[in-house]
Amino acid sequence: MKTILILLLSGLCLTASAQKTAKIYAKAQKALDQHDYYDVLDYMDKLPKEEKSTATYNKYMAVALDSLKRYGKAITYYEVYTDISHDSVAGLRLAEIRAIEQKRIAAWQAKLVRIKNCPKCLGTDTVVTESNCMQCGGNGQIRKPCSRCRGVGTVACGSCGGKGSLASQDGPIPCGSCGGTGTKQCNNCDRGYKDESCNGCNGSGRAVYHQKCDLHE
Ligand SMILES: [Zn+2]
Ligand SMILES: [Zn+2]
Ligand SMILES: [Zn+2]
Ligand SMILES: [Zn+2]
Repeated sequence: MKTILILLLSGLCLTASAQKTAKIYAKAQKALDQHDYYDVLDYMDKLPKEEKSTATYNKYMAVALDSLKRYGKAITYYEVYTDISHDSVAGLRLAEIRAIEQKRIAAWQAKLVRIKNCPKCLGTDTVVTESNCMQCGGNGQIRKPCSRCRGVGTVACGSCGGKGSLASQDGPIPCGSCGGTGTKQCNNCDRGYKDESCNGCNGSGRAVYHQKCDLHE
């Protein structure tokens, strides 16, 4: 009897919405344990708006984003979380990833300066070169299977329909047009193949290529 009463009371204390929130956190914790960080973010998305100012919410967001190496975003959540909780371990981690982010930004800015002053790409990070066309090897033409005979080099004889013989009063006689073979040489190609103008260079054999400058990675 006593147990039932306690259960009833605790049931009343937890409203339906609070129960739902607790369930989402439980699932998020499971996802976190299994290193499914994108799932953690998805669960956090399902929480009601008012939950998003709590320490718990901001901690889950910070840890998941941190694990995904999205430090810039993780920092903002760690800031809210540590403000509320004064969690010193999280505070140390926040300092750590702030330093990582600062380094990353500094490296990126230094790279921009290197590009700006680069004698090879003159600040564009792109090198334009003209060279032999890579598609045709500089020939300007590409050998392709003939579209009429599909690369075979012969087509069915039109006079006999490919049978090699014609019907006559005395029975079938060999087709004179194809000599009884049923096939004729395709007149659209050279033994099944045809040279076509390369569309990589419009037949010129030379092409212009834009490549990333290699003086600064
Ligand atoms: Zn360059
Ligand atoms: Zn052909
Ligand atoms: Zn024929
Ligand atoms: Zn070409």
